[in-house]
Amino acid sequence: MIDFRSDTVTLPSPAMLQAMMNAPLGDDVYGDDPTVIDLEQWAAQQHGFEAAIFCSSGTQANLLALMAHCERGDEYLCGQQAHNYKFEGGGAAVLGSIQPQPIDNENDGSLSFAKLTSAIKPVDPHFARTTLLSLENTINGKVLSLAYLQQAREFVNLHALQLHLDGARVYNAATALGVDIKEISQYFDSMSICLSKGLGAPVGSLLLGDKKLIAKARRWRKVLGGGMRQVGILAAAGKYALTENVTRLAADHANARYLAEQLSLLEGVSVNPALVQTNMVFAKLDPAINQQKLQDTLKAQGILFAAGNPVRLVTHLGISRIDIETFLTVLKQALKI
Ligand SMILES: *Cc1c(COP(=O)(O)O)cnc(C)c1O
Repeated sequence: MIDFRSDTVTLPSPAMLQAMMNAPLGDDVYGDDPTVIDLEQWAAQQHGFEAAIFCSSGTQANLLALMAHCERGDEYLCGQQAHNYKFEGGGAAVLGSIQPQPIDNENDGSLSFAKLTSAIKPVDPHFARTTLLSLENTINGKVLSLAYLQQAREFVNLHALQLHLDGARVYNAATALGVDIKEISQYFDSMSICLSKGLGAPVGSLLLGDKKLIAKARRWRKVLGGGMRQVGILAAAGKYALTENVTRLAADHANARYLAEQLSLLEGVSVNPALVQTNMVFAKLDPAINQQKLQDTLKAQGILFAAGNPVRLVTHLGISRIDIETFLTVLKQALKI
């Protein structure tokens, strides 16, 4: 299958599976798993934080961050489009008694500091306590600039807030900016990273922060049922992902750009290739095109995409340039029918 639905669909390579098989294991709830300890210590240092915690998913890593930064009755500022507001089941409110305060995202994915300022609540028993600003990079495939991140740091310093990054795809951002990951992470009090998206691990995310925050997160992880035992088998895949699969993200970005350029030449498909910054292409299809039929036709030829308007096509390590050529050929044929 050529699967454009998401960069979560990748399968572990033989070398990654070998690393998993060779991993020394122990009970991580007792702090006994050497592979998890190695990943957490290495990742903390690699990203410029004191500590790290391996989590079952990005949703869990973000929830732990929110619950470690905020107390009951606190609120966090975030984007209307933020994953940790819109796509995580309201977990912060449901499980943390933490209120989100969403702000409309600007077209470039950023949040306006003027709008954020007016959303900060005065210290008064009528209001939730504004404690945290949560950003996302990349957001819908778009990259927040280093200049913007620096302004965000100045903003939170001015207002005595903490700053979290949902960095599910932060390596895509670093790749697009052409910078070391620390150039991004330096601005944040905490950061989550998905190992199971473009980086290709089967499972797992990291949350990074100072020792106190990560100790709090470790407690909440256990409470949420996220304490895992011989989980080094997954941490080994995560370490492999971070050491072996980062540099190849540039190929995903080039493939996405190429895909967008080729799609923009097709009748009935509207894409602006200049807007493709990382591994996501958003294509509007002419309303006359029956999307369900198109989806079925392509599926019968081994190609998967999620219907929608715009359609989102994601490139990843399971998709080669040849796969993209195959997709374009099949799509051209299908659109003629
Ligand atoms: C996928 C994603 C998450 C959550 O990751 P899961 O591992 O699917 O729980 C969080 N934030 C962003 C921006 C994501 O894209």
